[in-house]
Amino acid sequence: MKPQEMGSPAEGCVFCQIAGGRLPSIRVFEDDDFLAFMDIAPLTEGHFLLATRAHYATLLEMPGGLLARALPLAEKLARAALAGLAVPAFNLLQNNGEAAGQAVPHWHLHVIPRRRPGELGLAPGTPADMTRLPLTAEKIRLHLK
Ligand code: 5GP
Ligand code: ZN
Repeated sequence: MKPQEMGSPAEGCVFCQIAGGRLPSIRVFEDDDFLAFMDIAPLTEGHFLLATRAHYATLLEMPGGLLARALPLAEKLARAALAGLAVPAFNLLQNNGEAAGQAVPHWHLHVIPRRRPGELGLAPGTPADMTRLPLTAEKIRLHLK
């Protein structure tokens, strides 16, 4: 099997197939670089995904030009969802890597309309260990270029 070339369709990738029209999807938006379509297993009513047309496994593979467009586009789509579905709030969720719960390794951003707190069943965090927190922050700062 050939190594996956950045941005070219990946064999067996569901979102490449959706982008190429080989699998059906219910679309809310599309242009040359992105498409947005309803999630097949929505976390709330109206949950949809914004995905790149080209195959990039995670945020880290995406070219800067697409990254720069992604958030303004998400904002436009989220505004439309708030207005169209008459919901007061929304979450943006973006999983990178299997350990983070990414099931489809083709970059996408979840836009999740929200009607009330607690809908998603996320547990609140636990209080930080204040003896470790500065060290943890330093480990991150050391790698900022
Ligand atoms: P991830 O866990 O990778 O961040 O999220 C993948 C999302 O894609 C899930 O919410 C899942 O329901 C959705 N999904 C998986 N396969 C399909 C599909 O064939 N069509 C659509 N519309 N959504 C899909
Ligand atoms: Zn893909």
